[in-house]
Amino acid sequence: MKNSILLLFFSLILMNCESTSKEEKINDFAIIIHGGAGTILKKNMIDDMEAAYKAKLEEAIKVGHTILKNGGSSQEAVLKTIQVMEDSPLFNAGKGAVFTNAGTNELDASFMDGKTLNAGAVAGVKDVKSPIELAIKIMTDSEHVMLSGEGASTFAKEKGLEIVDPSYFYTENRFQSLQKIINQEKTDLDHNDKKANFYDPIIKDSKFGTVGCVALDKFGNIAAGTSTGGMTNKRWGRIGDAPIIGSGTYANNKTCGVSSTGWGEYFIRSQVAYDISAQMEYQKKSLKEATTDVIQNKLTKLGGTGGVVALDKNGNMSFEFNTEGMYRASMDDKGELIVKIYKE
Ligand code: ASP
Repeated sequence: MKNSILLLFFSLILMNCESTSKEEKINDFAIIIHGGAGTILKKNMIDDMEAAYKAKLEEAIKVGHTILKNGGSSQEAVLKTIQVMEDSPLFNAGKGAVFTNAGTNELDASFMDGKTLNAGAVAGVKDVKSPIELAIKIMTDSEHVMLSGEGASTFAKEKGLEIVDPSYFYTENRFQSLQKIINQEKTDLDHNDKKANFYDPIIKDSKFGTVGCVALDKFGNIAAGTSTGGMTNKRWGRIGDAPIIGSGTYANNKTCGVSSTGWGEYFIRSQVAYDISAQMEYQKKSLKEATTDVIQNKLTKLGGTGGVVALDKNGNMSFEFNTEGMYRASMDDKGELIVKIYKE
């Protein structure tokens, strides 16, 4: 009897140790970003290009890290970090947005605040320089969560956000990618390949350059944001996962924050970002367990490609993707910086 009481006592202590170690706060503040996932192979990348991507990721994450280190909010860190990437032609967001089939650029973005569960999102906007700023404005200054197209532009103007001529988003590189896909489509049609659909050529040569950021500030607040031009050759006002709360972006102080990148249709159907948070909340999974299950198991089984960056309330961080590469970086409260592109 005495022995079984002792055994029970020690088991309880052990169980308690295990749950405390799982819950241990490892970073007072932290930040993690992505610049898109896809078929990014070392053999196809020239050294200068690789250096340029790494430098921009480092520049962006350091902006957010400095804000957090100085006691700024996760919202501010996400906004300013994403804006560095939106202003760069390297990524498929803001300046470097991909082209639609009609030769236009239509941008999507979303933001979520893990403390209040407030969110803002914008879809299909053509003349707002910083879609992530607009997403945040929609959250803070309107009673809505998502605005689209011309209405979203009108709101941006009314709120004094920077408006640009649509030609601001023209980059030769992205325009040529569209021409390549349109030519490929014509070839498929000439060969009477009825099965070819407009996403095929994109996916075969896929590089999803969306940008995203998740930050945890010193007050324990998690924020997440995502900004994109969508997918090259998109038509009919197609909207991807990036502006959809629960798919492209999610944040909850009780669990984690997530930003996604990849083939948006699959991320919408899988509710990727919310599923990660839900697995942590209801199944008590760790961040790593939840991101692995959602990306490597569920998304992959469905046929989706891409990845996420995620950060939990204790400052654990996770990069998870099922593609050849993902532009990515993280920084913890000790200032340790990780910048990577390939699988490794
Ligand atoms: N997820 C984005 C979309 O489907 C594309 C990307 O991640 O680059 O619109």
